[in-house]
Amino acid sequence: MIYLDYHSTTPVDRRVAQKVMWAMTDGFGNASSTDHEIGDVAEAAVKEAKGHIANLVGASPRDIIFTSGSTESINLAIRGTIQHLENKGIHPHIALSAVEHKAVLDTCLALEEQERVKLSILPVNTQARIDLAQLEQACASGIHLLCVMAANNEVGTIYPIEKIAHIVQTYNVPFLCDASQAIGKVPIHFQDWGIIMLSLSAHKFYGPQGVGALVVKRGHPLEPLLYGGGHQRGLRSGTLNLPGIVGLGEACRLRALEMEEDERAIGKKRDRLQKLLTEKIPGLVVNGDQENRLAGNLHISIPGLPNSAVIARVRHQLAISTGSACSSSVEAPSHVLRAMNLDEDIVEGSLRIGLGKFNTIAEIEAAASILAQAIQAVREAMVTS
Ligand code: PLP
Repeated sequence: MIYLDYHSTTPVDRRVAQKVMWAMTDGFGNASSTDHEIGDVAEAAVKEAKGHIANLVGASPRDIIFTSGSTESINLAIRGTIQHLENKGIHPHIALSAVEHKAVLDTCLALEEQERVKLSILPVNTQARIDLAQLEQACASGIHLLCVMAANNEVGTIYPIEKIAHIVQTYNVPFLCDASQAIGKVPIHFQDWGIIMLSLSAHKFYGPQGVGALVVKRGHPLEPLLYGGGHQRGLRSGTLNLPGIVGLGEACRLRALEMEEDERAIGKKRDRLQKLLTEKIPGLVVNGDQENRLAGNLHISIPGLPNSAVIARVRHQLAISTGSACSSSVEAPSHVLRAMNLDEDIVEGSLRIGLGKFNTIAEIEAAASILAQAIQAVREAMVTS
């Protein structure tokens, strides 16, 4: 089985797993237990993890709130900001890009449905690029929150977050950047760029599932979603997930050290796979912004060939996914590809391939052959049926 679905989740780095194991056994304490040394050890481990996260994203350790992952971070950022505005008697207006992950999109749509916010969706072009002039217009119109992701989870397009943060600062607009797919792959400078809120999930960069963080600039007002023991300055109550946090920290430490080299190697393998597939598969289309995409992303379509038929043939040998959401098992047309205004047969024939640091060149060559053969077989079956 060759794993090429790294946008969905990544295997945990064994060095990270060792740290998680330590936190579950020897270092098992409750970081809020201030009455004994076992609690102190856990607290120190949390502090160390915060340092590694802060270092990777260029933030202060004090800015970090641990969560169960990006979905929760995004909900806290959006709903927490909106609740605060409502408490002040404001009816908030949110602008978001059309290609945001469902965690952002559906949170905003639910608030709109409840008539709690007004929404403006910022369109993208056929490569999923956003129009910065339009984004600036939205900011100038007096919005209360802007949501733009750092990199797209389907076509891998990387967004100009530094420029966007600069624009929002000019108009004093709070800015949420969903960096789930970008962290550990492209540099992010939270403080220097002036980002207000940033979400991340450990399992997207070789850390464990079910843990993440929201990085929030000091002074940005947020209302909590969860009430309880008042942990994390009352913003996210609940006993800290020590194994997860330690794993997240270690994953960040390793990315800071190894990201550049790993991503360069991953990019070379992706380019090799793209070349092989283009040679072997007549009519293959590469989607997205080839000048500006994540090193591990390869999003392709074989127009006129349903992606489900291809997946059905390769699923026991190759882990790749259809162009639809990485978040659910529900088969729905991808809102990202639709927002890119791609032809119906491109959308229906789309396949998302995600490479990571554990892929070997032998796997890449084998994957290209498996995929090319499967596509040939589907084509032949369609002709005879
Ligand atoms: N945002 C993006 C861009 C993602 O790719 C994902 C992962 O599916 C999420 C948010 C949600 O992350 P999680 O499922 O870890 O909460």
